[in-house]
Amino acid sequence: MEKDRRGGTLYIVVPCYNEEEALETSAKALLDKLQGLQAQQIVSDRSRIVFVDDGSKDRTWDIIDRLYRENESVIGLRFANNRGHQNAILAGMMYARAYCDFTITIDADLQQDINAMEAFIAEYDKGSEIVYGVRRSRNTDGFFKRTSGTLFYKMMHFMGCNIYENSADYRLMSAKALEALSEYGEVNLFLRGIIPDIGLQSAVVYFDVFPRMQGQSKYSLSKMLTLAADGITSFSIKPIRMVFAMGVLALLVGFGMIIHIVYEHYFGYTVSGWSSILMSIWILGGAVLISLGIIGEYVGRSYMEIKRRPRYYFQDVLSREKDAES
Ligand code: UDP
Ligand code: MG
Repeated sequence: MEKDRRGGTLYIVVPCYNEEEALETSAKALLDKLQGLQAQQIVSDRSRIVFVDDGSKDRTWDIIDRLYRENESVIGLRFANNRGHQNAILAGMMYARAYCDFTITIDADLQQDINAMEAFIAEYDKGSEIVYGVRRSRNTDGFFKRTSGTLFYKMMHFMGCNIYENSADYRLMSAKALEALSEYGEVNLFLRGIIPDIGLQSAVVYFDVFPRMQGQSKYSLSKMLTLAADGITSFSIKPIRMVFAMGVLALLVGFGMIIHIVYEHYFGYTVSGWSSILMSIWILGGAVLISLGIIGEYVGRSYMEIKRRPRYYFQDVLSREKDAES
């Protein structure tokens, strides 16, 4: 018999990087939300909020530490240094996996509407293992972020990655989905791409996005570019294939050039040596590019996986579960 999924244990995972301005307000809103969900018995009393401090340099960890001491339902995890948004989310989810029925990940600035959580949970109760949050519009983003975002999703589709347009890292994952996710050992983490790849039953919930109320965006341009590059390289070897295609193209041009050169040689006034040099340039150029493409294909595949570096490491863990176990 199908187990009743209602009233499961929810762990809300919140990545925080230098969020001292936003965290107090956000934590209060999240705690209220969790209490409300518990009061309506939508989630169990063992539900928790996991703040993952992604190596912040400001007072973020002090705030989390205080929140932990004041609230039974707060858990704090801390990275020794900045490992990035994706790793922070993953760490929180992997930590939660042992205790929860499902997690919801949400940004610390609460730009994402927390009132969509009921809809996420309703989809989980109906049987979905993964519920994707998709933003209704991008109109709170500036022009640059909006266009670069749209362009990025277009490119990902072109590269053959199956990803929801305008999906965010606001998402529900069941313990089963987390189990599957834990099997993915890749270091270049792009969750929005990996999670659809799991392929479990899923649903989509649309939510509103608000402007950031406190603090600045923690996604610098370089962080955005890294995320985009991770997304592309971890899902596609098309860029390497393009080198190969360039090689084929150069070879074809080379053969065309041979005809042209032979013609010039016999009917034109060519400087001696010109023909042989030009032929070698095109033919060799093409051959070199093709070889590069083929080698790159192998190197590209192995490079990313072979390093097997740890993705994160907890410097501190504040959790009552831990005390209960030992
Ligand atoms: N974040 C993180 N590590 C980073 C950068 C950002 O954990 O290196 C967190 C940040 O604290 C926030 C979330 O990721 O909770 C989204 O960041 P932000 O709101 O700055 O991005 P934006 O909404 O501007 O895309
Ligand atoms: Mg934000």
